[in-house]
Parts: sequence; C-alpha cells; structure tokens
Amino acid sequence: MKSKSAIVIGAGMGGLTAAIHLAKQGLHVTVLEKNARPGGRCDRISREGHHFDTGPTLLVMPLLYESEFAALGTSIKERLDLQRVDPTYHLVFDNGSQLALTSDMKCLQEQLETFEPGSFQGLLRYMNEGHCHYHLGIEKLVQPDFRKASDFFKLSNLPLVQQVKPLKKHYANMSNYFDDPRLKAAFTFQDVYMGLSPFEAPATFSMMPYTELAHGVWYPKGGMYQVVEALMSLAREAGVEFVFNTTVEQISLNGKSARGVVVDGKLQEVDAVLANADLPYVYQNLLPQDNEAKKLERKRYSCSVISFFWGMDKPYETLPPHTLFLADDYRENFDSIIRDLDLPANPSLYIHAPTRLDSSMAPVGQDTLIAIVPVGHMSANGDQDWSAIRDQAREHVFRRLRTIGINDLEEHIKFEMNFTPLSWRKRYNLVKGSTHGLCHNLSQLGYFRPDNQHPHYRNLYFTGASTRPGTGMPTAMVSGRLSAQRILDDLKI
Ligand SMILES: Cc1cc2nc3c(=O)[nH]c(=O)nc-3n(C[C@H](O)[C@H](O)[C@H](O)COP(=O)(O)OP(=O)(O)OC[C@H]3O[C@@H](n4cnc5c(N)ncnc54)[C@H](O)[C@@H]3O)c2cc1C
Repeated sequence: MKSKSAIVIGAGMGGLTAAIHLAKQGLHVTVLEKNARPGGRCDRISREGHHFDTGPTLLVMPLLYESEFAALGTSIKERLDLQRVDPTYHLVFDNGSQLALTSDMKCLQEQLETFEPGSFQGLLRYMNEGHCHYHLGIEKLVQPDFRKASDFFKLSNLPLVQQVKPLKKHYANMSNYFDDPRLKAAFTFQDVYMGLSPFEAPATFSMMPYTELAHGVWYPKGGMYQVVEALMSLAREAGVEFVFNTTVEQISLNGKSARGVVVDGKLQEVDAVLANADLPYVYQNLLPQDNEAKKLERKRYSCSVISFFWGMDKPYETLPPHTLFLADDYRENFDSIIRDLDLPANPSLYIHAPTRLDSSMAPVGQDTLIAIVPVGHMSANGDQDWSAIRDQAREHVFRRLRTIGINDLEEHIKFEMNFTPLSWRKRYNLVKGSTHGLCHNLSQLGYFRPDNQHPHYRNLYFTGASTRPGTGMPTAMVSGRLSAQRILDDLKI
C-alpha cells in the first residue's frame, strides 16, 4: 500500500521536529525550504574562519530540550556536546555597576547585597515563585494540545489565575521582591525574548529568569547551529527528504481541504500540508485573503533587532560570553521599541562573544563578536530609514563598549555583516521583520495563540513561533511534535 505523504514548508526548528516525528511513523515526508540550508532563524554564517550564530545564542530551558529529544527517541546529551555557561550574563548598568548572574549563590548574594541590602532574600522568594510559574506554565500552557476550547477552559485550570499570575504585570510584580530598579530590570529583561515589555508581560514570565538560574544557560560545542545539525541527522536517519532553494508559492485548496503546494507553478499533491513558514506570512502570502488573514493583520507582533556580526583581528578576552547593557531608562526603552517602533535614545543591548566558550569560533588570535540591538518592527507605512537606524545602533554599541574599557573595537573590525528588520523579512519571510513572530501578550498566549491546525482546511497544519505554544527553539520543538501528532491522528496512523 502506498504510504501517506506530507509536505513541510520550511526547515526551521518546528518543521524539522515535525518532519522527524512523521517520518518515524512511516509517512513520506518532503521538506521544501526556500533557503540553501536548514535552521530558519537558527542560522549560521561562516566567513574567513569566523562562525556566527545569526539568531539564537542561548540554549535555555534545557529540560524542555531533553524531553523533546527523548520524544524523538534519543537524548540531547548523546547528540550535543553541551557546556553550562556560568555566570550566564554579565549585566552592565548605566552608572557602571555590574552584576554577574551566577548559580554560585554565595557569590550572587554578595553582589546583590551591594545593590540593595536584603535583596538576596527577595531573590530567593522570586525564584520560588519562578519555580511554580515554570513548572505549571510548562505543564498547563506549553505542553498541552488544546484541540478544543474545553481542553483549556476547564475547572482544573481555574487555579492558574492565582498560581501563575497571568493578570499581574511582570514589572509591577517585582516590587514584591526588590526596590532597586536595576534588580527589577536584571530579572525581567528576558521578556524581550517573548517580544514583550515587562510593563505589559504577565508575571507568569518569571519562569524565564528562574529556569536560566536554576537549570542553566548552555552552549553546544560548535555553536547553536549544532542543534539544527542534530535534528538534520535525525531527519536523515528517519528518511525525510529535503529540497532546498525552493520557495512554495501557494497552498492549493480544494473545498475544505488542502490539495498540496505550488512550486514553480506546478502542483505537488499530498495528504497533509504542514506550514513551518511564519504563520502570518502563510495567511498573507500562500492562502486566499479571507477573514482569517484580516484578523491576523490586527494582531500584535513582537519587536525586531538589528544585529552586527564582526570578524575581529584580535581577541577581546575581557569580554564575557554574554554581556547585557541595561539602560536606566528601562521603561522608555520598551515604550520606544514597542509603542513607537523606534530605536531608543539610549538602547539596552547585548554582546555575544562565542569564542570565550569555544575557541574554534574564530581563527587563533582573533575574535568573533555579535551585537544585538532591539528595535521596533517595521511600520505599516514603511517610514523607517533602516540604514540610518542601523548606523545609530552601531554607534551605541561602540559607545557602550567604551564604558567597559573597550576603546579600539572599530579599528580592529576585519569585516562586518548586519541584519536589520528588512533582512529578517527577506531571509525568513517574517512579517514586519518581527524576530519572534506574533508577540506573547495575554490575548495571544496558550489557547489564544493561533492553533496548529487551520480552522477551515482540515489537512492544513502549522508549526513554529507564531503558532502554539510560541517562540524559542525548544518551544518550536514542542510545536513540531504537537502538529505532527495532529496529522498522525487525522490520518489514523
Ligand atoms: C535574533 C534572534 C535571537 C533569538 N535568540 C534565541 C535564543 O537565544 N534562544 C532561543 O531558544 N530562541 C531564540 N530565538 C527564537 C528562535 O530562533 C525561534 O523561535 C525558532 O528558531 C523559530 O523556529 P520556527 O519553527 O518558527 O521556524 P523559522 O525559524 O521561522 O523557520 C521557518 C523556515 O521556513 C522557511 N520559509 C519561509 N517561507 C517559505 C516558503 N514560501 N517556502 C519555503 N520555505 C519557506 C524559512 O526560510 C525558514 O527556514 C531567537 C530568534 C532570533 C531571530
């Protein structure tokens, strides 16, 4: 008997994971990817012996990776050579004070007490809350497959309103633990990973600083792209077929179902279509413009970033692996990015020096640096001058580095590559250049996030950052597993 077939549009984290699950159950799976390589946003550029992870740089939520690799029949430790990054981040504040977030509790206590006497006790209480938010959040909001409203709106979920504080704002909630604004910033900045400001993010997101301290931030030898390589080897072992440099032009429909996809004007028919390309892009570009597409236009999108990738002709040994400059005007930063779609006047920013973790990321005696500056996403009227904004962002990075004694960076750049929101849109088809897709405000979280299955076309499915459960590499793996299970159930496999 001919085996059932599925086409996956896009070889991002969600698409790769789903493809492996489907192929392992005997489906004939073809992944069509517009780019020359797999990985999507988790991408890699190598030049002159310098290796750049152009998207994710932090392996966070290791327990989630472990359970998703286990679901694929393997273990993350078998597939990746992981090292814990400790301290995770070096935070630098405007007044020159610094804080190294470490799992060495004695060292952390000593540092925190210099910021605010008694704050270590506040941190312990905050971690306690984070523990609860993390475990309940993963169990009740991230892992479940909400196939119908009653899977979410059920009596046993009612206590969540108290337990994970979805109605309380994350930053406001911090006054239960700290007074010093620098500490409030140190344990809320992670909300930007969700595309949110801590002034509007639910307090539920204390799960992120909790997992970073409790379970660690990790780094795979060879860089984050090794996660993609690990999934690629699993996919090949399972018999998944890949076609790169191939853009799907349309999803072909027939009444209430998808017939297949159109590539180079030709229809490829299949039993199931799974779109890993960003969900709003799929609605706007691959499907007919109906009410669903219009509804998505009105949804909120996450911010974007301007990234600089520098090959340096000398090493910067004093620069730790993950440095974050956190601006005093914390609130104005988020307002400027999220409300005004702009670059803040004094932006918070992040520098990644992978060579501190793995010397093979740069030629001997040289360095590889990545700087990431969060900015607003593209506006509807296209009035942002991205070249000018990028140049301002670059100057802010140099200025910030001077405050920690790095004065000669500009002179030692051998080459630069950079991404603006226009690049994110062009490279990965991300609507508005939003690096995390649809944002994770309350009305776009959990059950309220777009489903992994199209509401009208029965055999059209979605996986990835803008669908359930949401953004992040391990979360995309959960998404891939959930969508694959829907397909298998519907095809009765
Ligand atoms: C700058 C940045 C930093 C990040 N940092 C972290 C981090 O440190 N840790 C972390 O866990 N997460 C991080 N993330 C988030 C993480 O990268 C994403 O959530 C995750 O990789 C998204 O995977 P996805 O399954 O949605 O697929 P995507 O990455 O969106 O991939 C979709 C694929 O579909 C392809 N495609 C699109 N349209 C078509 C078409 N018409 N035909 C064929 N193919 C198509 C695209 O080329 C792409 O390869 C970061 C993201 C960014 C951008």
